[in-house]
Amino acid sequence: MKILLHDCCAPCGAFVVQELIKNGHEVMVYFYNLNIFPEDEYKSRLSEMERYCKKNNIPLIVGQYVHNEWLESVRGLENESEGGQRCEKCFLQRLNETAQKAMEEKFDGFATTLTISPHKPAEVINKIGRELAEFYGLKFIDTVWRKADGFKKSCALSAKENFHRQNYCGCEFSVRK
Ligand code: SF4
Repeated sequence: MKILLHDCCAPCGAFVVQELIKNGHEVMVYFYNLNIFPEDEYKSRLSEMERYCKKNNIPLIVGQYVHNEWLESVRGLENESEGGQRCEKCFLQRLNETAQKAMEEKFDGFATTLTISPHKPAEVINKIGRELAEFYGLKFIDTVWRKADGFKKSCALSAKENFHRQNYCGCEFSVRK
């Protein structure tokens, strides 16, 4: 299938891209992460994924980065703990944009790197993905990437590629004190 892959960063994305290609899919990466703060961190994550895609001839497109818009969408949920309602909105926003783009650009389906993280609720992410897929008439690849040593393998690949590796999820509310 022709798949648009929502990617959050290179340490997660590199492994998932490899797996999708190994499974016979044609992949384009969509870096759409208006949640990331500050902007310098956004730029670092993006440039690492650009470096990886360029080296491996994988097409990559970049979505708009309007962090204020994201802040507005999670207003009132700033104090939610990680994995709670703020994150659910954050997943929905990024996956909805990905699904819409996939439909407009005539992809067969879409996927996300988000389920590689042991800190994220994979069942919530995949439910959102499946519902959006139904709405837009697409397929959604609901693999939980962290399973079968996926997370471990992604860390090994990340170390091999010498990627910048962040120690927080992305938004200002997830920065570890
Ligand atoms: S903690 Fe991560 S998933 Fe949750 S709202 Fe912040 S950036 Fe989004």
